[in-house]
Order: sequence, then structure tokens, then C-alpha cells
Amino acid sequence: MKTRRLYYTDSLQREFDATVVSSEVADGRATVVLDQTAFYPTSGGQPFDTGRLGEGRVVDVIDDDAGEVRHVVDTLLAPGARVHGTIDWPRRLDHMQQHTGQHVLSAAFDRLHGVRTVSFHLGSDTATIDLAREVTPAEIARAEAEANRVVWEDRSVTVRFATDDEVSQLPLRKEPVRSGLLRLVEVQEFDLSACGGTHVPATGMIGIIAVAAWERFKGASRVTFVCGGRALRAYGQLRDAMVAASRALSVAAPDVGATVERLQADAKELGRTIRRLQDEVAVGRAANLRAGAEDIAGRLGVLRHEPGWDAAGLKTLASAIVREPGTIAVLVGDGTPAPVVIARSADVNFDAAEWMKQAAGSLGGRGGGRPELAQGGLGVSPERVLAYAKDTLK
Ligand SMILES: [Zn+2]
Repeated sequence: MKTRRLYYTDSLQREFDATVVSSEVADGRATVVLDQTAFYPTSGGQPFDTGRLGEGRVVDVIDDDAGEVRHVVDTLLAPGARVHGTIDWPRRLDHMQQHTGQHVLSAAFDRLHGVRTVSFHLGSDTATIDLAREVTPAEIARAEAEANRVVWEDRSVTVRFATDDEVSQLPLRKEPVRSGLLRLVEVQEFDLSACGGTHVPATGMIGIIAVAAWERFKGASRVTFVCGGRALRAYGQLRDAMVAASRALSVAAPDVGATVERLQADAKELGRTIRRLQDEVAVGRAANLRAGAEDIAGRLGVLRHEPGWDAAGLKTLASAIVREPGTIAVLVGDGTPAPVVIARSADVNFDAAEWMKQAAGSLGGRGGGRPELAQGGLGVSPERVLAYAKDTLK
């Protein structure tokens, strides 16, 4: 026996009474079939309703192959029992706003631009439609405006049933995928589609249809949209983010983008200036450090903790030190892990990259480079890095 689907003819019905036809436990899930139900099962891109059945909760609703609606419940009910069902209304209303909004938006794309909707997905935060070709931002804006005009005209949304023969004479937006008796959803003088979903009774209840994002792929487009309550929540999130950004930048909201671009350009310029200054300072500092170098196995060794130099600066400094022959430099900066640079003069036979690999293995951290210069980050204090260098470079 097929379940009588109350939501087919009255999508606003939140409560109902029914008789349990059968119940079973399979794969650890208790399912109940009723003679009639207002619970919508997952199908046609729209997720299931949740709510209460008797004392228990409905956690999933499945449309099975036999045409029965299976309620997955946390409390099993005996066959023959009379139960009262209540659906979770905020969730259902949200699904109806998105689903009817989808019909209107898809029809707007179809009527204005001749673009077919290939598929519809209703997720927990946003919904998407896939369109049969790439659409431009201007086409999206026009379809969005047209869809909202239809929302604000508060047009009726009605449901009727028709046979295949009758349907073949009707201007349906999309070829129906099923045969037999079809359920048709009509947005007054705007859209006619075969659909089993729940819909608001008039378009005004959608509230608003807002396109949130779009992407083009393989000659098609995916449009992400939010309707009704979701649009209001999305607006609130954007507003909060924008208020925070404009406060942090001390500019009006419309100027946030340009201000961030300017700050990024400034930061780039500052970085260039710092590198130029480091190059200049490195030359003088390198001469000082070479003057105080110690003898390490017959070579000039500069083993130094240089606070205030970042990894790039240490590299510049080390390169300047080893420009003179016969020198090895190991420089350690501040940070966790500590930035370490090792470099040698062209005439010194020593593999800096190999040393860095060994040091990372012994002291913890990572690093690499070329035989003449290597850098890394080591997980110990500068003093320990330098003591290790002294031991291993002998
Ligand atoms: Zn539909």
C-alpha cells in the first residue's frame, strides 16, 4: 500500500494523525510506515523533514521503491497504533522558500536567456542550480531581478495532477523524468514544472531570492543562491564582516576593497625598502663580523646569533660575509623555530646543504639549500645551534 502524502496537496499542514501500517528494525535503524504522512522524504533535490512521531523523533525520511514513505525514528511504534505527527516547521519553511525560489529563478533564466536548469541541489546553508551553458554576470543580474519581481508580485503557486497525455500538450519548462500521473507545480503565468516537492502557496512567502556566488565550468554554470530567511542570515553575516573590516581600516564600507589593495601595495613597497636597507647594512656588518672571526679548522669561522634579522636578512648577511675567501658563516636569528643560515666562500670545500640536513636531523627542524648556502628552521635556542656548529665544523 502506498503512503498517502498529505504534503502533496497541503504543504502548510504541520500536524496530522495516522495509523502505523508496519514497522521494522533494519541495519540498526527503526523505520515506520504510516497510512498517511505530512513528512517529506528526500527526493528531487529537497532534503527530508524532521519532527516528532508520537513520543519519538523522526531523524530521516526515505522514499522507497514501492512508493512508501519510511520514517526513520528513535522510538519504534507497533503496527496498528494511532500516532500524532508534527513536522519541524522552521526547517520545512526554509526548504519551501529555497525550492519555490529555485523554480522562479530557473524559470527566469529560461524565459530571459533561454538557459535550461540541469540540476538543483538544496544544501544546509545554500542551494545551487546547474545551468546548461556559461552565463555572464549581466545575465545573472537580470535573471535575479526578474525572479524578485515575480516574488514581490506575490503570484499564486498551485499544484495539480495530470496524465502523460495531458502533460505532452502543456508547456513544461523541463521534460518530466517520470511517467504516469504527474504532479505539476505552477507559478501563476510564469512557470510550469513537474515536481514532487513542497512549495509555498504564493511567491511572496519566498521573501527574496539573492544570488550569492557563481562559477563557470565545462560550458556550464553553477549558481549559488539564498532565499527568504537564509538571505536575511547571509546579509547579516556579510554586514558583520563588512562592519569589522571598515572599522579596522577606518574607511566606509564601499571603500574597503580599494583600501586593502592600497595597503597590499604599500606592504610590497615596504618589503622592497627593507630588503634594500638590509643589503646596505649587511655590507658594513659583514666586515665587522669577519674582523672578529674565529679559527675553525684553518678557516675563518663566523658563528653568530644575530637578533633582529629575519631569514631573508640573514641570507643577505651570510652572503656578504663569505664574499671574501676562506670563510664559513653560521647565522641564527630569533624565532620558533630559529631561522638558521649557513654559507661558505667559493674556495672552501664544504657542503652547506648536507650540514643543514644533518643539523635538522640532530636538533629537530627542517632545512635545505645548495652546497654553498643553505637555510632552515631549527627547533632549539640560538646558543644550542651555535654550539652544535662549533662541534661539527671542526
Ligand atoms: Zn521542484
